[in-house]
Parts: sequence; structure tokens; C-alpha cells
Amino acid sequence: MSAQRSAIPLPAPLSIDVLVVGGGICGLASAIALGRVGHRVTILEKEDGRRNRGNSGLRLPPNMSKILFHWGLKEKLQRVALTSQPTLFTKYDSGELLGAQIWEGELLVETRGEFMFTTHSELHKILTDAALATGATIRTNAEVVEIADDESKVTLSTGEVLSADIIVGADGPYGLCRADILGRRDTGTPMGVAMYDMLVRTKDVTTNFAKVTVKDNAQFLALGNGRAVVALPVHNGNDIAAQWYLREETAEGAYGDPRSHDASQLDLDCNSDLRSVLDHATPALRIPFKQFDELEDWVHDDKPLVVIGEAAHPFCPGSLQGPAMAVEDAAVLGKLFSHLNTKDQIESFLYAFQDLRQARANGALKSDIENVFTVMLEDGPIQEMRDNMMRQKRDQGANLLDQGEGEESKLWEEIRTVFGYDCEDEADNWWVEWGLLRERARETNDPEAGLGVSFATMSIQVNEAIVA
Ligand SMILES: Cc1cc2nc3c(=O)[nH]c(=O)nc-3n(C[C@H](O)[C@H](O)[C@H](O)COP(=O)(O)OP(=O)(O)OC[C@H]3O[C@@H](n4cnc5c(N)ncnc54)[C@H](O)[C@@H]3O)c2cc1C
Repeated sequence: MSAQRSAIPLPAPLSIDVLVVGGGICGLASAIALGRVGHRVTILEKEDGRRNRGNSGLRLPPNMSKILFHWGLKEKLQRVALTSQPTLFTKYDSGELLGAQIWEGELLVETRGEFMFTTHSELHKILTDAALATGATIRTNAEVVEIADDESKVTLSTGEVLSADIIVGADGPYGLCRADILGRRDTGTPMGVAMYDMLVRTKDVTTNFAKVTVKDNAQFLALGNGRAVVALPVHNGNDIAAQWYLREETAEGAYGDPRSHDASQLDLDCNSDLRSVLDHATPALRIPFKQFDELEDWVHDDKPLVVIGEAAHPFCPGSLQGPAMAVEDAAVLGKLFSHLNTKDQIESFLYAFQDLRQARANGALKSDIENVFTVMLEDGPIQEMRDNMMRQKRDQGANLLDQGEGEESKLWEEIRTVFGYDCEDEADNWWVEWGLLRERARETNDPEAGLGVSFATMSIQVNEAIVA
């Protein structure tokens, strides 16, 4: 199906009331996905609508931009986001160019999306407008402090009680909904790495750095000894968003905190291009990498509560796939609930959502972390091997992710499995393969009719299909 399809999908046969806890990227995307198919959505956001927006860089990989294009947001995105093709790999200490990965038009056709750079606040604004346009109500300064036992009711800090048919917990890694399902607060275990996030005016940094980053909207990586930098142009190329990854034992810091770290004091051992970024950057926001418990269930046992986005699978800061998985989650939830024609289906749709999303999101999380640790490898034989492989490709004029002739290229594998994945198609497939069968079984009042397998078996089979 085309990435430009379905400006307005058919409404679900039955409309329900949905409370979305959290008005971040995932909460807004959930409101759009569910609102597009006719559900009545209220977002409850504890902040005032400004404090929950960040001005750091945010990368949209093709699997994410394609969904936003489906939702008719391509033009709006293109007005603020930059479409990127090259990723440049350099050495942190010397500035040597190790090689490049060019995401060329032809390659991206396969994914039906684009690589784009924007900021959290720009994306947040686009999604807010789109959520409102689908009829969602967005309530700011509305902090949820309790979710009732056995019921779909929430209490706000003001004492107001609200109810709905389902509660979508999009309140992030430290939120109430995740804690409710886990049975305790999960503050995460620091992994010994911190990201320092900053912005710098392009005109203030040395020509070399600005040239390579802003030219062709390149993503710029610097690979160092236990440290790394990812930089990308934002704000029409007038600013560069830079993320510094360093080995550091800290548990403090989260998105939304004030930028309170003096970037110029960060690291004295980088090359002069990077030094000029640190010397001219805004104060930095520090966020530690943390390992969170993997949630066995995203759906609450006793109430119609499902967690989604960072609440279900917390990513590390600055992650490529974190925002993408949040939007994919929302799109799948919307697709499944587009088939709702009786409230009896709600539970099975929530479990189908979990089955469709868990392996994919957890896999993306794992590979995002591996990628960061690969670019910040400590000096030694493995780092030398990595650098020499890159130099070899560079000298052959080849893309870094290409493999030798005759071999399946890693690039294509990545394009197909990560960037080419169409989560909405997967949700449609679930409906055709399993949802309709369950419908027939339900209509004949025989839970096993037409299936020959129990619901539990079905869940396992769906999971296996995704992993395969
Ligand atoms: C302020 C902020 C700035 C960010 N900036 C960037 C960035 O620049 N680049 C980047 O790559 N990623 C950024 N992120 C992270 C990014 O949003 C996530 O990685 C991803 O997009 C998915 O997020 P999410 O919506 O699932 O969760 P989150 O982004 O964590 O959003 C959760 C939302 O829930 C709200 N909330 C929490 N508890 C409650 C409650 N009890 N009641 C009501 N509301 C509640 C929070 O205020 C927040 O708005 C930022 C996140 C935040 C919160």
C-alpha cells in the first residue's frame, strides 16, 4: 500500500471513550490514530503544554515518517523538518573522516518514508494540531494521581474523577501507568553512560564542522575512546543539535529538566571542530542511560489499562527508534481499534496490541543501545577493526553498511526489517488472520470455533511470526 494512502479512514463500527494519560509524542500520536477511526479521546497531560516540549533534536527514521505521511502530515513536517541523506562517520580525536552512509532516494523508496530531522517541540506542535483536528480534547495541568482498581477511572490531582472505556498509559518511563502494571515504581538502573544534549548556532562553529553537518543535511557522528557525538542540523540549518555521549556514573537527569551543565567544561580532549561546538553551545541537558525492567505484560490484569510508548519500553535518551516505536505503537493501536464493533473485543485487541508490538519494540531498543556502544567503543583491537573496516569502505567509495559482492547487504536487511516495516500493515494482517476468526467464533458463541486453537496459543503464534 502506498505511504500516501488513507487520508481519512473509515470510522470504527463502535466508538468508545478513551483516556490517554500523557500528552507527549506517544499520547498525541495515540489520540490521532484513535481519533482518525472515530473514537472519542481525551488526553490528560500533567504539564502546562510548554514544559512538556523539548527543544532538542529528534530524528525521524523512515518507519516513523511513513506513518506521519499516512496521517496526512507530510507537508507540515516538510515545512519544519530537514530531509537527510548522508551520515558521516569521523574520529573524535583527530577529525579524520572514516566514511559515509548515503541514504539515497532509491534505497528509501523501499521504505516509503524519509530520514528527517526536527526538534521535539516542532514535532509536538504538529501532533498537537493534528490531534485537535481529529476531535481530541487535550487537557493540560491535568495530572493523573490514581487509576482505580478493577475500573477504568482515573483521579486527577484536583480530585476530579474521569472514566472511559479504556485507559492508554502514555505517561513515559517514570509514569503512574507503568508503575500500576509493574506493581512498583521503576526508576531504572544507571548504565554508566550519560548523554549531554545541546544546541549551537551553525554560524558560531568552525567552517569544517558546519560545512559537513549542514551540507546535504548530514547527520554527523564522531567516534571516540569511550565517547561519541551525534550532531544534526535543525531549525532550517540555522542550529545544530548535538548529543555528547560520555562514560559517566550518574542517575540524575531527565527530559524536561533545565539545561544546567556548562558545555564548554565537558571534554578537553576532542578535536578543534568539536571543541568549537562545546565553546559556543547552549548549556547542556544531561540524561543518564538507564536499564529499565522489561515489562512482561503491557496490559493490566484487572482493568482496561494498556501502556504504550516509553511507558511500555523506555529507550535511552537521544535514541533513533524511541520516538519511532512510540508512533508505531500508536498506529497499531488505532488500526486494531478501527475494527471495534462490540466492547467484548476490547480485551483481545489490547492483548493483540501487546503481541504485535512487544518483540519489535524490545528488538529496536536492544539494537539502539548496541549502536551507541559501537560508536563509543574504548580504544583497542575491536575499535581498530571497526575503524579499519570503515576506512576500507571509504577507500572503495562504498557505503559503510554495504557488504561484499554476492552477500546480502546489511543495509538492505536493515531497510527491510527496521525501516521498511509497515506496522499498520502488520495490524491489518493480524485482523485478517486472527481477528476475523475470533469474530466468527464469538458470533457462534464458541470460543474455539473456526480457530482450533486457544487465545493463548494464538498470542504465542502471533509473537513467533513477528520474531521470525
Ligand atoms: C519534555 C520532553 C522533551 C523531550 N525531548 C526530546 C528530544 O528533544 N529528542 C528526543 O529524541 N526525545 C525527546 N524526548 C523523549 C521522547 O519524547 C520519547 O523518547 C518518545 O518520543 C516517546 O515518548 P512518550 O510520549 O512515550 O513519553 P514521554 O516523552 O516521556 O511523555 C510522557 C508524557 O506524559 C506526561 N505525564 C507523566 N506523568 C503523568 C501523569 N501522572 N499525568 C499526566 N501526564 C503525565 C509527561 O509530562 C509527558 O508529557 C523528550 C521527552 C520529554 C518528556
